This record gives sequence, structure tokens and C-alpha cells, in this order.
Amino acid sequence: MFIGKTALVTGSTSGIGLGIARTLAAQGANIILNGFGDAAAIARLRDELAEQYDVQVRYDGADMSRPEAIEDMMGKALSEFGCIDLLVNNAGIQHVAPVDEFPVDKWYAILAINLSASFHTTRLALPAMKKKGFGRIVNIASAHALVASPYKSAYVTAKHGVAGFTKTVALEVAEGGITVNAVCPGYVLTPLVEQQIPDTAKARGITPDEVVRNVLLAAQPTKKFVTVEQVAALTAFLCSDDAASITGAILPLEGGWTAQ
Ligand code: NAD
Repeated sequence: MFIGKTALVTGSTSGIGLGIARTLAAQGANIILNGFGDAAAIARLRDELAEQYDVQVRYDGADMSRPEAIEDMMGKALSEFGCIDLLVNNAGIQHVAPVDEFPVDKWYAILAINLSASFHTTRLALPAMKKKGFGRIVNIASAHALVASPYKSAYVTAKHGVAGFTKTVALEVAEGGITVNAVCPGYVLTPLVEQQIPDTAKARGITPDEVVRNVLLAAQPTKKFVTVEQVAALTAFLCSDDAASITGAILPLEGGWTAQ
């Protein structure tokens, strides 16, 4: 249980991040939500989580592509809660295009949100974790932190970077009661994946149904999407006391994809 602990989950207004926030709240953690979306829907979500799980829930709409916005969010969170005990770097975007047609602005946005944001939240969260002698950092990477697929150059580059960053920080803080791990999901049917189906169909010249059958789930031997709940459960375990000896791990959660 995480009673008395505070969790920041970036990109938690949707998909995997929301599932993780819900699971950590259900186990007693105070939650800082982050991400984009309709203001009224986010306010309802905040109230619903707080009421259902009897925890404090805050929302910060900081744009993870902007270091100064991240600094502002972290400053507010630390002054209110003292320490972000559980940091889950989850915010991410995707763009699918051949590398010689890849929009330059998308390249930089993907590196900023999917990789550099984790550097900023981590460097700002660590001093309080070190002081407390406890911390859990979970980076939501991807099977694409371990293997590549065509037309996803920025995403694969960023996620491989997350794996390297995870291992490096884990070594730096290993003696201080702080663990740093990466979870590498295969395909999870969230808005991020739903949105890339038409682009992948266009890039490959096939139908959206063929993308799901022959591209997405072709890579996963189980032939099943990973679920949000499965990613949230592993993340919560990594945040627990029982996971104190797991650090610097890049953990596949991808239906056997990278075993091939
Ligand atoms: P999603 O699109 O459902 O959710 C992404 C979240 O990030 C949303 O809350 C969105 O508002 C937020 N976000 C986007 N840009 C942001 C920004 N600039 N600043 C702050 N928040 C921002 O996506 P998802 O599928 O839940 O993906 C979550 C993470 O899981 C990503 O890092 C993604 O790469 C990773 N992942 C997803 C899959 C999958 O199949 N869905 C597989 C492996 C890894």
C-alpha cells in the first residue's frame, strides 16, 4: 500500500497513465495528474479519484515538451507534498512516417516529450527522494526500447534513450533506497495506438484492419493486446517495497514480442 506517499504520473489524463494513476490511488497514494484534455472532464476525473479512493488528487497541465513548465510543475508539487515518492514518466506521443519524410518538428517533439521530459522530472525529483532515503521511478518505455519497427525513427530512438537513461540513473542512486526501472509494453489499445492505425495504413498501403492483424499483433505472439491494467499492475509492483531489489531493469511486457 502507498498510504502517505505521493505519485506523479505524467500523461495521466488518458490511456496507460490514467490506468496507472487509478491503480496507485486505489492503493492509497496521493496523485498528481498531468496531461492534456477537456478541463471539465479532467476536473471530474480528479474529483472521482479523490472521492473513490480517499486520497488527495491534484492536476497540473504542464506541457512535457517545455522544460520550464516541468520545472514549474515539480516546484509546486514538491512545495505541497515535500517529496514525489513515486515518479512515473509516462507521457508520450507517436508519429509514423518514413525517415526521409519525417517532419522535423515531430522529431524534436517526440524526443522532448518521450525522452527529455523524464530527464527533467527525474533530476528535479531526486533531491527529495535522496533526503528521504526512498524513491521509485518507473519509466514507461516500450517494446520499441528493445527492438525497432520501420517508420517510427523518432519514437524508437527516444525509447531506446529511455532504456539507457533508466540504467544510468539506477546505478547513480542504487545505494539510496531509490529504484529506477523501465516497463516495455507491447501494443496496448489506447488512443495513441488507435491514432497511428490510419497513418501506418497509409505508409504501408494497406487497410486499417490489415494494420491491426498483420502489423500490430503480428509482432505479439500472444495475438492479444496488452491491457492498461497489466501495465498498471507491474508499475505498482515496481513501486512497492517488495520490488526494492529490482533496479536498472528494462522489463518486457509485450506478449513475447522481443523473445523472437
Ligand atoms: P495516450 O495517447 O492514450 O496518452 C498519452 C498521455 O500523454 C495523455 O494523457 C496526453 O494528454 C499526454 N500527453 C501527450 N503530450 C503531452 C505533453 N506534451 N505534455 C503532457 N502530457 C502530454 O497514450 P498511451 O498509449 O496511454 O501511452 C502512454 C505511454 O505508454 C507513452 O509513453 C507510450 O509511448 C507508451 N506506450 C504505449 C503503448 C501502446 O501500445 N499504447 C505501447 C508501448 C508504450
